Amino acid sequence: MPRSHAPFFAAFALPAFLALPDALPTPETPSPAPEPTAAAQPFRSHADDVADYTLRARLDPEKHTLHGEGTIRFRNASSGAVHELWLHLYLNAFKNERSTFLREPVAGFRGSAPLADWGTIDLTTLSLRGDAGDSASGTDLLPTLDRPSAADTGEGAGDETDVKVALPREVRSGETITLDVAWDDKLPSIVERTGYAGSFHFVGQWFPKLARLEPDGTWAHFPFHHLAEFYADFGTYDVTLDVPASFTIGATGPLVESRRDGGRLVERHVQADVHDFAWTAWDGFRTREERVGDVRVRVLFPEGYEADALRELDAVRFALPYFARRYGPYPYAELTVVHPPEAASEAGGMEYPTLITTGGAWHGTPFSKLIELVTVHELGHQYFYGLLASNEVLWPFLDEGINSYAEADVLRAMFGAGSAVSGLGLTVSDSAIQAVFGNAAEHDDPIAQPAYAFETGGRYSSLVYERTGAVLETLRRVYGQAGMDRAMSEYTRAFRFEHPGPEDLIACFAQGMGGEAAAMLRRALFEKAWVDYAVVEVASHPHTAPRGLFDRDGRRETVAAAPAKGGDYEGSVLVERRGTLSFPVEIELVLEDGHRERVPWDGVGGSIRVPYRGPSRLRGAIVDPDRAVLLDDDLTNNHGTAADAERRGADLVLERATYWAELVVQAVAP
Ligand SMILES: [Zn+2]
Repeated sequence: MPRSHAPFFAAFALPAFLALPDALPTPETPSPAPEPTAAAQPFRSHADDVADYTLRARLDPEKHTLHGEGTIRFRNASSGAVHELWLHLYLNAFKNERSTFLREPVAGFRGSAPLADWGTIDLTTLSLRGDAGDSASGTDLLPTLDRPSAADTGEGAGDETDVKVALPREVRSGETITLDVAWDDKLPSIVERTGYAGSFHFVGQWFPKLARLEPDGTWAHFPFHHLAEFYADFGTYDVTLDVPASFTIGATGPLVESRRDGGRLVERHVQADVHDFAWTAWDGFRTREERVGDVRVRVLFPEGYEADALRELDAVRFALPYFARRYGPYPYAELTVVHPPEAASEAGGMEYPTLITTGGAWHGTPFSKLIELVTVHELGHQYFYGLLASNEVLWPFLDEGINSYAEADVLRAMFGAGSAVSGLGLTVSDSAIQAVFGNAAEHDDPIAQPAYAFETGGRYSSLVYERTGAVLETLRRVYGQAGMDRAMSEYTRAFRFEHPGPEDLIACFAQGMGGEAAAMLRRALFEKAWVDYAVVEVASHPHTAPRGLFDRDGRRETVAAAPAKGGDYEGSVLVERRGTLSFPVEIELVLEDGHRERVPWDGVGGSIRVPYRGPSRLRGAIVDPDRAVLLDDDLTNNHGTAADAERRGADLVLERATYWAELVVQAVAP
């Protein structure tokens, strides 16, 4: 899902009135996505099936209830035997105020408004269907159902989202079992990506879902946390949905059967190689459809939102092939884009396999690109979440952070420097916003920690989304596009249809970009690492011959100050690097006559004094003039002027613009 930029955009009316020039000057030249090379390994087109769901669900849109039943086929793909199953019953997050979700005091993110109506999931059947002759066949597993997280989260706790059942016999490595399931849902008023608003229904986290079994035989299971998302095995979802005939359905996977049956619409959707299934049903949807390459793209939107739907289609038309060139082909036949009605904005900005939601409260901002940003962001999740199915609970930066980088990359290619806001004399890139928000939180927490470890929604979004985006964009700018392409190509190829962890990402950067870049990435992710480059001192004066007492030809001479000659100046620039990160940078010397000279610095030591000698007086210096190091947390000290030179001209404008932009952004940062 996207972080919320709403306060940022609202506040940006302020500097616009100050006629601010480019608020955060950044090099925004888009680089073409690499063409696939013949030598490269092909991208896999299928996952290994582990958990297959064949489900039927009937919606009562008046009571907002759903009856479901079906089968789950589960293969023990781990190396060991399994004696229990863990299931997520995530609608119970909205059951009562003893759920982990409602007990976590998280503000500043979605899901914080009081619930108008509760939500539940009641499992009514869970039994093992064994082979003929299997004495365990038909065993009812429900009597063994246990809710360990209800007991271990403190006084009065009673979470019912993370449950386990005992198996009547062990399931060996490689063995497949089939479970019969039936359940009843009561959908909540729309909250945290799921529920209803009037007759609009968005149905996510709605069925009993197996936790993921890790290769070592341990279950990765989690109660439904406020800030966390999901983690599951790949499989095939074959889902039949039954709603009133006046409703339009949007769902994961293509429609393979549709019929009208006594005032009801029954649709069957089947999708292989995915790890979740979500759907929506509403009698208010308008639809638009078009093919983008081989993919059928369908946009569902409320009446009156045609213009937004067209912008969303434009964004998909650009981004889908762009992502395919960067990160491998989109392997599915369909993509559904759902723009929820405004009353259901909590359903907006979310990703599921082959189905994304956009819109929400961000529509109608003519000079911002938020509609495109949210659409591109959620589409990017088809890679960083969908195909690269990381543990979103433990390592949310692997989906949200990498995806925030990918989003900014596409927006830069689409819109150039004004990739987030362009208008009213203001040009702000998505990357610049990520840097400012991310840097503001750099001392709060490390990036790489579980979603539930973040104390506030603001820290979570600033670090997991924005700072990770800025870290990766800094690596691209400092170490180059080619290295970035190698690293990301390796990552998205090797771990497609897999479940990569942080070390997998870092290893791909070591391979594609080198050990120094990988070391900085590790430090930036796992430590509260930071960096600040500063021009500390600029000195410049006319060159004079050395003065003092000199012994020449047996005599001692006094050499006094000689009149300075024009056109011969000397001096120096002192630059410091503060903090725990270091990147190679350039130092630009700015001369009185307008010439500029650049000196590279590896940034490794704490400081460098750059000597100057030339025909013009040294007016000032800029460290990192191209602003490659987006992580630099104080831009006001990146410029310095010689003490005896007047501060004027372009440098001053640049500095003041940066100062104002930082001030405003700091004022509105979450
Ligand atoms: Zn996201």
